[in-house]
Amino acid sequence: MREASALPLLLKELRLPTIGHLWQSIVRDADEKGWSYEKFLTTLCDYEIESRHQKRIQTFIKKSNLPYGKTLSTFDFKEVDKLNKPKVDDLAHNTNWIRQAENLLIFGPSGVGKTHLGAAIGHSLIERGVKVLFTSATSLVQNLQVARKNYNLPMTLSKLDQYDLLIIDDIGYVRKDEGETHVLFELIAHRYESSSLIVTSNQPFSEWDQIFATNSMTVAAIDRLVHHATILEINSESYRKKQSLKNHLN
Ligand code: ADP
Ligand code: MG
Repeated sequence: MREASALPLLLKELRLPTIGHLWQSIVRDADEKGWSYEKFLTTLCDYEIESRHQKRIQTFIKKSNLPYGKTLSTFDFKEVDKLNKPKVDDLAHNTNWIRQAENLLIFGPSGVGKTHLGAAIGHSLIERGVKVLFTSATSLVQNLQVARKNYNLPMTLSKLDQYDLLIIDDIGYVRKDEGETHVLFELIAHRYESSSLIVTSNQPFSEWDQIFATNSMTVAAIDRLVHHATILEINSESYRKKQSLKNHLN
């Protein structure tokens, strides 16, 4: 057995950095409170596991591309009184819908908080172990188009399977006259009943024929999206507009 002075080295070798940082103060706590050996060991292990969990979440958040600061704690529900808050809380805190590969569609005019809300739900789900990727619809379509040109579309779609939830922001900005948008349909078909999507849109379904190449593709895309989905509509006035009005009045 080594001397007790070797403990920091041993902890390093075992890759237990949190215990390495905390053991001295936890020893003091244990002495003061007369903990059993079991309680002492459990506390050390708890801290190590919790800090690993937090690190993993930070890594997922970085990888997710979620916009910074758009969380539920910064979302003011009073500004959107018709929004069903219990439903939003359920979507953000309960991962059942992700396990069941259901979708969430968020509709409303510009500036009402669709992106913020989608991102906030994504953030909260990451904390519950869900892997999330946030992307604007236009850059997603561009990436898929490049993949298709390189005969790489199936592989790229499969790569996206690593994310339990893909947030596609502003689908209405995708325009069929700007290129091959059937890649977007392929993505929706690929994820149908296998993994979840959050889609935000300024445009109601009736205008989605501007997005997809043909009417039948539009119908097929909408069908797949809504089959197992929650739809939230935000119909308040633009938050951006209200804020700038407030600033002018002050
Ligand atoms: P949309 O995607 O509907 O166009 P955004 O989500 O981009 O709108 O919101 C516009 C701006 O207003 C963002 O900075 C967002 O954080 C803020 N915002 C919108 N709604 C709210 C809200 N209810 N509480 C706090 N901030 C909000
Ligand atoms: Mg937006």
